[in-house]
Amino acid sequence: MPQTNLPSLTIVSPCYNEEPMLPTSAPVLQNILERLMLSHQVADDSKILFVDDGSQDQTWTLICELQHHNPIFTGLQFSRNYGQEAALMAGMQTAYRHADLIITIDADLQDDPALIPAMVTQAKRGNDIVYGVRNDRSTDSWFKRTTANGFYWTMRRLGVNLVPNHSDFRLLTKRVVTALMQCHEDKPFLRGIIPQLGFPATKLYYKRQPRQAGVSKYPLRQMIRFALDGILSFSIAPIRAVLYAGMTICGGAFLMLIWIMVQHFRGAVITGWSSIMASLWFLGGFQLIAISIIGEYVGRTFTEVKHRPRYIIQTDTYSATFQSRTTALNVHQHTMS
Ligand code: UDP
Ligand code: MG
Repeated sequence: MPQTNLPSLTIVSPCYNEEPMLPTSAPVLQNILERLMLSHQVADDSKILFVDDGSQDQTWTLICELQHHNPIFTGLQFSRNYGQEAALMAGMQTAYRHADLIITIDADLQDDPALIPAMVTQAKRGNDIVYGVRNDRSTDSWFKRTTANGFYWTMRRLGVNLVPNHSDFRLLTKRVVTALMQCHEDKPFLRGIIPQLGFPATKLYYKRQPRQAGVSKYPLRQMIRFALDGILSFSIAPIRAVLYAGMTICGGAFLMLIWIMVQHFRGAVITGWSSIMASLWFLGGFQLIAISIIGEYVGRTFTEVKHRPRYIIQTDTYSATFQSRTTALNVHQHTMS
């Protein structure tokens, strides 16, 4: 069967301190990809690309060992920890130069990798985006479920079109990733940006499993930061809310002024300590919140205009694989001529 018409698939998986998980998840992904290659669903140069997001454990050593035993595995190593979104962006940015289809999946395989062949089928049917969507969050804690629902509700109210219960398990075709790479944001909120790109899309449902080894890298503090990134990078609604609140308070202050003048002319000018204190504290607090919200946007503009790199890649064994092949091919062609 000629390979030329088969799409080349790269599975991108971000890894941060995944030493306990990789020995389990790597063979699972390998198995799935090899079956796809054997059944001529994807091209023989399809790869698994682990992005080591500055792990402090032996993750990178493991990735190198995997590649040593089987060139289906490749890796990117960051110079330090840049975060999951940066790892996903780096993986996609490196992969889309060679791959036609890119699937991103967490290294702990909490999202069902058995869905990967169905995703490829959907892509062949003309879908440029295939979202993996959880239809059952029973394995998540009550707290995680409730906060996640609250987050989707807030984002919907702010007019941001998110796919509920979809995390970063998705397939994208080359043209979607090409469009995505035109978004030069410092902190790209992928779950919000990708639905905004358009393109034919579909959803596939699965049950999310509990993490089998290692620990979650999203404690409460990280979750709050992630939610704030989502809201602040997509909406100026908080600034507008401050404006409306400010206008309401000014209205209240105007009524207050009338009342003060009435009191003044009536000769009852000794105002109470409690009302002064209440307005002092309330307005002081409100002003601090308002300034900090505006400051948050100014801060983001500040980081954005600096145009610092989103991540720094220390080692790239993925591109090297393709380069060595191209070089070998060139040498071959050279000797043939
Ligand atoms: N991850 C990463 N960089 C980070 C934090 C997490 O690359 O700074 C990766 C992590 O290795 C995993 C994925 O992102 O593959 C999701 O993280 P995790 O499983 O800890 O999140 P949870 O499933 O608990 O939300
Ligand atoms: Mg996880």
